[in-house]
Amino acid sequence: MPLHLRGTVLPEGVVRDVWALGDRLTFDRPSGPADTVADGGFLLPGLVDVHTHPGAAEGETVFDPAVFAEQIAAHRDAGTTALRFPGLLGDVPAEVRDAPDAPRMITAGRWLAWAGLSKNAGFHTVTADLVTAAVAEAKANDGWCKLMADWDFEAPPVPHELLRTVVEAVHAAGGRVAAHCQSAEGVLGAARAGIDSIEHGMGMPEECVGLMAAHGTAYVPTLTAFARSAPQIKSTARGRLWQEGHRTMIRRVREAHDAGVTVLAGTDSAPFGNVATEVEHLIAAGLPAESAVGAASWTARAFLGLPALTEGALADITVYDADPRREPAVLRHPRRIVLRGRVIR
Ligand SMILES: [Zn+2]
Repeated sequence: MPLHLRGTVLPEGVVRDVWALGDRLTFDRPSGPADTVADGGFLLPGLVDVHTHPGAAEGETVFDPAVFAEQIAAHRDAGTTALRFPGLLGDVPAEVRDAPDAPRMITAGRWLAWAGLSKNAGFHTVTADLVTAAVAEAKANDGWCKLMADWDFEAPPVPHELLRTVVEAVHAAGGRVAAHCQSAEGVLGAARAGIDSIEHGMGMPEECVGLMAAHGTAYVPTLTAFARSAPQIKSTARGRLWQEGHRTMIRRVREAHDAGVTVLAGTDSAPFGNVATEVEHLIAAGLPAESAVGAASWTARAFLGLPALTEGALADITVYDADPRREPAVLRHPRRIVLRGRVIR
């Protein structure tokens, strides 16, 4: 039997009746009975976390399919209907991806790190040929690859000419590139290279804002993860550099948005199913509430190539008692979750 939901559809703000027929939405009343699962409230196409790395318990660097499944369930139960993984320790287990209640998943495969960087983390896949590795990773996964534009924020990043060659090659293969950037030089190189999404962007120089806008680069600051780390940062020279980079990135969030850059919500680290917190950080950084909610919902879906609540769209809907644009905290309490046309909650 079709599912029927009635409520204020966001971001349009219009009260509508929506039906889910299998994994498709329609605004045209189907013939025959339907099961009304929501009447009233505010309807979103679910939440989206565009920067999350499920698959390992905190502090672990070995992929565990059971942990992956648990963390995906936490995302799903929070109303997160779509996820992008910019770096995973293993392959998405088929039984999780193919489950009838699986959030939409877009993986970029492994973290690719150029061998010329001064240091790399143990979990990075180090390669001397970043171009070939990036194209292969985008092809082997969901059209995305993830590379480290830098790692040590006091050492030179990947040269921007090399990043540009990677971007051109991956684009020619139909893929997109996400880049980890945590130093001023690293962000600048990624912005010059026309990377598709800049992750973190600590210490971002001012000129990056215009470069991102010109290249259509999205910005995923992952403020939640940095806010969590901030209290542990010591007041050493390196720590002060970190703190300054953190303050700068927060300032750039609003500047980037004002310049027309697509700012998106990603949490990066545990807990999973926590993208509502990133919405609050984005608002605190100066994003208008509607844009911050969109960054974790309809805007992020558009960025990932997924429809929002439109005729014929995929049947993902979350329902809230209050308008999240006025009360963002309500995003923590979905009254109803429909994913792939199934009632999850
Ligand atoms: Zn990350």
